[in-house]
Amino acid sequence: MILITGGTGYIGSHVAVELVINGHEVLIIDNLSNSSKKALEGLKKITQKDIIFEKIDLRNSNALEKLFDKYSFEAVIHLAGLKSVKKSNEIPSEYFENNVQGTRNLISVMKKSKVKKLVFSSSATVYGIPKSLPIYESSDIGNTTSIYGKTKYMVENILREIWEKDNEWQICILRYFNPIGAHSSGLIGESPKGIPDNLLPYLFNVASGVLKELEIFGDDYSTPDGSGIRDYIHIEDLSKGHLCALEYLSDKHNISFFNLGTGNGFSVFEIIKTFKKVTNIDIPYKVVGRRSGDISEIFADVSLAKKNLNWTAKKTLEEMIYDGWNWQKKNLNLND
Ligand code: NAD
Ligand code: UDP
Repeated sequence: MILITGGTGYIGSHVAVELVINGHEVLIIDNLSNSSKKALEGLKKITQKDIIFEKIDLRNSNALEKLFDKYSFEAVIHLAGLKSVKKSNEIPSEYFENNVQGTRNLISVMKKSKVKKLVFSSSATVYGIPKSLPIYESSDIGNTTSIYGKTKYMVENILREIWEKDNEWQICILRYFNPIGAHSSGLIGESPKGIPDNLLPYLFNVASGVLKELEIFGDDYSTPDGSGIRDYIHIEDLSKGHLCALEYLSDKHNISFFNLGTGNGFSVFEIIKTFKKVTNIDIPYKVVGRRSGDISEIFADVSLAKKNLNWTAKKTLEEMIYDGWNWQKKNLNLND
């Protein structure tokens, strides 16, 4: 059985589907701080299986211990955590507590129970401001521009130390670029609580009339059209990367790091144009100042994941937007 922490969340729910349809037994824990049990209904419809769910907070070591006493896990895919760049700078201690201390609690229970196979959700934010592009796994890390990024960097370092002390661990660190879209069934997708910070969920809410207009955070970057460039990846491709990571870890006692992106960068204006092409909807927008902590441009080199994980992203930006919008149209309420 595979434990997925944060499994009712956006990425976790898609990873759960991928694992279950490929024959894995899965158990989800989540404290539901940024998701709801509704995701479990979607999971059941897609997989035709009941997935065991336990409401557990990673900050509660006792609850984690009881969980590991009750079930026998083969591996853990650890996605639970807080992810807002903006909020992380406003409430840093909560971010350290959830993302860093929460992970320490998890690792210590895993160690006690001799479960030493771990896939961890890191982020391209660990690279900070890129010195050159594309970004390789060997590029500099640590010069992060937010507390959120710092928590990911800290966890990566903790995991390196754990592995150096005990080579029995099997650790795969996945550095996600910008996951977007939704499952092609339209049954699960991204439902952040409150007003979204990320571009696509915000844009979808503008398109559906829930929010008035999109604010473009800066058109004066040194990119071709002046807006920020990111490497957007379809959530289904990203989820498949986790299955490949588990397969990779089956015979490797090492710690490894992989970029999960497409290798292509798109600007905010290109996203708006592609949204129009796919849906025929114009997005009202205004250009405002740069968002604090934002970088101009980032996209991945993805050859290492291709070589070692035998994984590559396949879906186009059009498919990402189509599937994301298909989900959003059916889930119009913020705070749902
Ligand atoms: P999400 O908020 O949808 O999912 C995270 C889940 O973790 C939520 O369901 C939340 O309720 C749960 N959670 C938070 N703190 C918890 C705690 N202390 N105990 C138990 N559960 C807790 O976010 P997501 O987009 O699915 O992200 C999953 C992981 O991937 C996160 O670690 C995030 O930092 C990382 N990541 C996300 C992105 C992105 O753009 N979505 C990019 C890079 C990395
Ligand atoms: N962005 C924007 N308006 C928004 C949200 C995001 O212009 O309401 C821009 C942001 O400056 C960045 C890109 O869209 O260039 C992607 O932002 P997101 O927050 O989705 O991802 P991240 O910056 O964390 O990579």
